[in-house]
Amino acid sequence: MALLSATAPAKTRFSLFSHEESQHPHALSACCGGAGAGGKRQRARARVAAAMRPADAAASVAQAASPGGGAEGTRRPRVLVAGGGIGGLVLALAARRKGYEVTVFERDMSAVRGEGQYRGPIQIQSNALAALEAIDMSVAEEVMREGCVTGDRINGLVDGISGSWYIKFDTFTPAAERGLPVTRVISRMTLQQILARAVGDDVILNDSHVVDFIDDGNKVTAILEDGRKFEGDLLVGADGIWSKVRKVLFGQSDATYSEYTCYTGIADFVPPDIDTVGYRVFLGHKQYFVSSDVGAGKMQWYAFHKEPAGGTDPENGKKKRLLEIFNGWCDNVVDLINATDEEAILRRDIYDRPPTFNWGKGRVTLLGDSVHAMQPNLGQGGCMAIEDGYQLAVELEKSWQESAKSGTPMDVVSSLRRYEKERILRVSVIHGLARMAAIMATTYRPYLGVGLGPLSFLTKLRIPHPGRVGGRFFIKYGMPLMLSWVLGGNSTKLEGRPLSCRLSDKANDQLRRWFEDDDALEQAMGGEWYLLPTSSGDSQPIRLIRDEKKSLSIGSRSDPSNSTASLALPLPQISENHATITCKNKAFYLTDHGSEHGTWITDNEGRRYRVPPNFPVRFHPSDVIEFGSDKKAMFRVKVLSTLPYESARGGPQILQAARNAPHAPPQSAIAAAAAAVFAAVAVAKVMGVMFKKDEVGFAPEQLPPPGVKRPMCWCGDECCFQISDDWDSYGQRYWMCRNYSYSPEKPKPVPKGRKGKAKIPVKEPEVPPPLCDFVEWIDKEMSEFDKRLIQSWRERQEEREERQRQRAAQEKAERERREELELRELARLSREKEERAEDRSRKLARAQRAKDAGSEAARKGKYPRCTQ
Ligand SMILES: Cc1cc2nc3c(=O)[nH]c(=O)nc-3n(C[C@H](O)[C@H](O)[C@H](O)COP(=O)(O)OP(=O)(O)OC[C@H]3O[C@@H](n4cnc5c(N)ncnc54)[C@H](O)[C@@H]3O)c2cc1C
Repeated sequence: MALLSATAPAKTRFSLFSHEESQHPHALSACCGGAGAGGKRQRARARVAAAMRPADAAASVAQAASPGGGAEGTRRPRVLVAGGGIGGLVLALAARRKGYEVTVFERDMSAVRGEGQYRGPIQIQSNALAALEAIDMSVAEEVMREGCVTGDRINGLVDGISGSWYIKFDTFTPAAERGLPVTRVISRMTLQQILARAVGDDVILNDSHVVDFIDDGNKVTAILEDGRKFEGDLLVGADGIWSKVRKVLFGQSDATYSEYTCYTGIADFVPPDIDTVGYRVFLGHKQYFVSSDVGAGKMQWYAFHKEPAGGTDPENGKKKRLLEIFNGWCDNVVDLINATDEEAILRRDIYDRPPTFNWGKGRVTLLGDSVHAMQPNLGQGGCMAIEDGYQLAVELEKSWQESAKSGTPMDVVSSLRRYEKERILRVSVIHGLARMAAIMATTYRPYLGVGLGPLSFLTKLRIPHPGRVGGRFFIKYGMPLMLSWVLGGNSTKLEGRPLSCRLSDKANDQLRRWFEDDDALEQAMGGEWYLLPTSSGDSQPIRLIRDEKKSLSIGSRSDPSNSTASLALPLPQISENHATITCKNKAFYLTDHGSEHGTWITDNEGRRYRVPPNFPVRFHPSDVIEFGSDKKAMFRVKVLSTLPYESARGGPQILQAARNAPHAPPQSAIAAAAAAVFAAVAVAKVMGVMFKKDEVGFAPEQLPPPGVKRPMCWCGDECCFQISDDWDSYGQRYWMCRNYSYSPEKPKPVPKGRKGKAKIPVKEPEVPPPLCDFVEWIDKEMSEFDKRLIQSWRERQEEREERQRQRAAQEKAERERREELELRELARLSREKEERAEDRSRKLARAQRAKDAGSEAARKGKYPRCTQ
């Protein structure tokens, strides 16, 4: 994608993520690592530094304080929040909506904790969405609009090696039954931006690192690293797992290392089962992998690996390492890693904090990761922070109402203790479940012998591990109860949200069937089926057509009299009429016609068996089919998704292209199959390194559709296939001379200092001129879908620019006001100085006069004598 960004004839860059300083994830390598990131942070710091100076801040707090003299009974308490992450912002929003005055101190808002867009999306589950609805319906609506729904599809655990389903989770029913919104995935930056906008820019103080506080019993003073002090009625530490507020409250305590390091990445990748599967956890021994659809043609993944904390990778070594660690795992895992740019991979060690019953003291409490950081396996850490924020605001409001009724001062301390009591049990249970899920995911053993060192030969016997069998039974019956409680267990506490399931959250009618029937789920999968040759020789990939009326016969020579499609494999062990492939109910079957050397299938669990003669046997993705037993005609079954955006345009176009390919004999299945064979030369070229980028730097989904011939450029070189990401032609496909696609050296990532600041300036690479500028559009017009998409991006861009303009104007006015004040102050000081100087010289003169008069007086006597 970096190449695409650099080479597409783009005029306007756009951002999918609407954070002001955000970058389109496509353009990570091109934009985020360079001086831009450091510069953006600098600009943001400068902006916020201008927003408030310590003296003014203290003054404004003091002014706003206590119209009636500061007594708690006469005003709502002022809430200080350390940390502007998800938890801090949600609390600020909830408290503001209830009329509280809030100040959020955020150490570094500009790049969302320095990691910026790399942190990728977060799953916000039904329970957290419902809490957001109860806090502010319009914010919740916006989050839901921006998010990608995953809860209406199949989610669950699969075996990492074979890719077979182990257990499926129903996250839809618990939500629908309780009238809750369905789980979504949303970019963290988008989420934080929505929250920050709703909270109000004036409430969040950036570059404000809370390092200490003083609770004197009547008020709390938050102390920042730069010495500024802010007073409030309570302080909430929402400052994440390494919380300073927690440290001051309870002293230093170490977080617990989970023993796993986690690589995360996001890729432009659309798996063929995108319409049916939301997220999947691929289980393995001491390692596991999680993939999730995050919308807009992207997949996010997490790869966990057991190893000591603090490990690092050599430059550009993360992807290589992951491919080694997950070598031999199913296509879903390996394809996704391959499709990810090195720069989009982030590594972090996973820590959590054991549950504690002490969340606060006096007027200070904790919220979110600062008190209950949990492992990410359940995707509930952020959701719990959201629930915390809601509950704390509710408890404050209760106390306020009571004090208003009784006319007594509000009891802030009790409201904080009540909040803690309300949350401790639920959070501790979910914390425990997250740890349990981690243990389960990493102690999974598909067969006896796995992880047994010298006894690992037992794995060859493929005896299901007893833990796997028992675990499945346990999860099957325990999981629905657990999910129901996690997703819906807090809903009774939510006030002010109507119980309603959104129409847009409707799941597919077949969802229930897919839960029970793996075959039905496979049949519902989209994409194109291929047989990719794995043996040496000059065989070409074969595309299978999902058409029940057509079959493909395989034999040593093609039979022109045969009306069905045929594939000739002139090899010694191939019989004349060897086998046939047919399609029924969108599944493919292989029938061996009593061939001499047989037809063999090796399934995704590594079991090899001979196909019985004259009996159709169903085969599945990742199976290997051998015609004969000398391994000269071996094919791997692979389902490739249609191109991103292509599915929205309608897949049949591809089929059509294959049928109309110049090499295809008309009107027969063989026409399409043969056309696919010829036209898929491009696929064959990358076959050995499937899902690695081709030599021009494009992922397979960016290769031309099978059957579409690449034109040659006038300069004599082959053209490559591209999809425009320019706003004026977004999603339109075009051919571009490969010489156009030079690959300028990418900017190096910004070296991070302790606070994520650039230490040395980053040199932007020089861009060489293109060698050839041939570009030819395949699509002459943008699709309606893309037009709407771009329209909405434009609107958001305009909104953003408008906000930036307003902020710049405000900042300018503020700057001018300050300069004016400073000038006046200078003038006053110099006036005072002059006055003091004048005063001094007057005094000196008087003293001199007195002295002179003194000597005269002495000469004449002490007192003037009467001369009369
Ligand atoms: C790999 C991974 C995947 C995850 N996936 C999910 C998921 O899908 N769903 C989910 O719900 N959760 C998920 N989580 C958990 C989730 O990210 C956290 O639980 C959530 O971010 C906690 O929010 P928070 O506001 O408490 O803390 P944070 O998000 O850590 O925010 C703390 C904020 O405080 C600021 N800060 C820190 N110290 C100070 C200070 N002294 N002064 C001022 N500001 C300070 C930081 O800059 C930061 O902005 C995942 C976690 C990981 C590691």
